[in-house]
Amino acid sequence: MIPGAFEYVRAGSVEEALTALAEHGDDAKVLAGGHSLLPLMKLRLAMPAVLVDISRVPGLSYVRVDGDEVAIGAGTRHFELERSEVARAEVPLLPHVASRVGDPQVRHRGTLGGTVAHSDPASDLPTALLALGGDVVVQGPGGRRSVPVTEFWLGFFETALEPDELVVELRTPRTGSTGWGYEKFTRRENDWPIVAAAAVDGRVALANMGGTVVRATAFAFITSFTDYSVSLFLTRAGMRPITLAILSFLEFGFAPTLAAVAAITLIVPLILVIVIQHFFGIGDFIYASRKNG
Ligand SMILES: Cc1cc2nc3c(=O)[nH]c(=O)nc-3n(C[C@H](O)[C@H](O)[C@H](O)COP(=O)(O)OP(=O)(O)OC[C@H]3O[C@@H](n4cnc5c(N)ncnc54)[C@H](O)[C@@H]3O)c2cc1C
Repeated sequence: MIPGAFEYVRAGSVEEALTALAEHGDDAKVLAGGHSLLPLMKLRLAMPAVLVDISRVPGLSYVRVDGDEVAIGAGTRHFELERSEVARAEVPLLPHVASRVGDPQVRHRGTLGGTVAHSDPASDLPTALLALGGDVVVQGPGGRRSVPVTEFWLGFFETALEPDELVVELRTPRTGSTGWGYEKFTRRENDWPIVAAAAVDGRVALANMGGTVVRATAFAFITSFTDYSVSLFLTRAGMRPITLAILSFLEFGFAPTLAAVAAITLIVPLILVIVIQHFFGIGDFIYASRKNG
């Protein structure tokens, strides 16, 4: 299928891209790897009048340590993240998850900024970033601002990004050798997850379980009452992330389960006693039982 007609602007710098976005407003769309945007345009689900291509903007592709965090440029392609020695040493969940995205062609074109800005709840790297925590750094006409990953994805294809802003960097804590894991279930190899779970340092995030990637917060809520994070212990003990995720959902039903058990053990016998008292009187009932028994 062929996309609708559009004007093409190749930005040579972040500033040029921002100028083009400011000029064309809602009519413009950023083009990075094109592996999510172009399929939408071919289906005519997206029909931008102007494409602002940032794929050749220098200085947007890097993985480096910055204090307690790892900073990753928005233009970093999935395969670059997968092979980055810095990422492997400092935040090993990310290169592992990058290696599970699509096929080699997709990984050589798709960018971290693109998958973050696209806000598809079935995407792998945003799930990992949400489990890790950290910030999405965006730049607009007024300068840079940081949005915590927990507040960036608002809904299906919807983010906290303004139309005249660019994602320029992702920042995530250095986890080093802290326990982590990633489980992805697919229909076919090299596909988006039907469901996926990322776990690191006691935090669990899930793909394709809502309108955005989601944190399994019920688990964190339960463990917040304990001195020692149970989920951290379980992650370090090698529990599979998907089991952790299932546990977190089971625990989400903890209160209703408790209520049901209380009802069965307390309320049902109470109702029985009231019914017996009403029809026979408790004394008569006990007398009759003893006499017959
Ligand atoms: C066959 C196939 C298989 C795939 N399999 C998987 C998979 O298994 N798991 C998975 O997670 N993903 C998968 N993908 C998606 C892939 O990872 C995409 O490349 C990625 O989601 C988007 O990155 P991109 O650089 O291609 O973004 P683009 O397609 O260029 O852009 C996507 C959206 O983000 C916006 N955008 C891009 N960059 C920026 C920026 N810096 N600032 C602001 N807005 C920006 C664009 O305007 C657009 O709305 C697959 C894609 C294909 C085609």
